[in-house]
Amino acid sequence: MKAIIIDQHGNQNSLKFRDIETPKPQPDEVLIKVEACGLNHLDIWTREGTAFPTKLPHVLGCDVVGTVAELGNGATGVNVGDFVIVAPGWGCGECDMCKAGNDSLCAHYKMMGRDRWGGYAEYCTAPARCIIPISRKYSAAEWAAMPLVSLTAYHMLVTRAQLKKGETVLILAAGSGIGSIAVQLAKHLGATVIATASTDEKLEKARALGANRGINYTTHPEFHKEVKKLTDGRGVNVVFEHVGPATWRSSSASLAPGGRLVFCGATTGAEVNMNLRFMFVRQLSFLGSFMGNFSELKQVVPLIESGAIKPVVDSTFPLQDAAIAHKKMEDRNVFGKIVLTN
Ligand SMILES: [Zn+2]
Repeated sequence: MKAIIIDQHGNQNSLKFRDIETPKPQPDEVLIKVEACGLNHLDIWTREGTAFPTKLPHVLGCDVVGTVAELGNGATGVNVGDFVIVAPGWGCGECDMCKAGNDSLCAHYKMMGRDRWGGYAEYCTAPARCIIPISRKYSAAEWAAMPLVSLTAYHMLVTRAQLKKGETVLILAAGSGIGSIAVQLAKHLGATVIATASTDEKLEKARALGANRGINYTTHPEFHKEVKKLTDGRGVNVVFEHVGPATWRSSSASLAPGGRLVFCGATTGAEVNMNLRFMFVRQLSFLGSFMGNFSELKQVVPLIESGAIKPVVDSTFPLQDAAIAHKKMEDRNVFGKIVLTN
């Protein structure tokens, strides 16, 4: 089969398109004929080898959509020919966290395309228990724009920040894959949505997804001042952060007393300054969030099927153009997700 292989960590040129052996499903696994695979920042970090150790050679790709081609011994719950998504991550299924349904807190949490070979290929394997059948309501490319970002956004807004109807939420970088889903999900939950984006054009698109107000952070880098203006000086109940050091100060300053800042990703770095006096006097909560639980993904899929949250695909590229697709993502010249197709 054809695949994009990484033999050495590095820049986009380390993504090599070539033939490798088609994998065999192990016991309790399935073989999937990949139709589309979404790109994530995780892919850049795994490609560079900067965030976690990866055994080489490696195949990236966390957001896999395709049809089940073969069942390994003992694989149940799916049938050959089913159109499916693969959960982007899963727990061991055995520990106390997994048994309590908190599999994203499992010490042995595994991610597709990070801890095992992913979907930058014509075929991949995955545990049968991590597969969810889906309808053909959306194309494979549209579905491939959803699993990681919709699961992560759901875990952040619903489970961690407990965003409620009538509250106001600030969604950072609404043009990003996760931001474009968070805007829709927050709207669906009945919140008033303020979105930030780097251009007025992206803000228009964010409004079309349901954002009530927009702030251009290129022209207003101290965006908390605009947030205060838009909220009669109160600030927002929830901030949805995934940028990190570049925005942390303004994000924190955007919170109303008692507000919650929920964060994942941190695409601009890992370390920030925090003013403890500012935090405790205002009784602010800072909530780390990572991926989500399989039970949450099962809640998310019906929201997608019903159209409450819709895929936002920036562009698609054939598998062999993965390096071009990575460059586009790293240039941040996107609104929504970039997807590779077979
Ligand atoms: Zn576990």
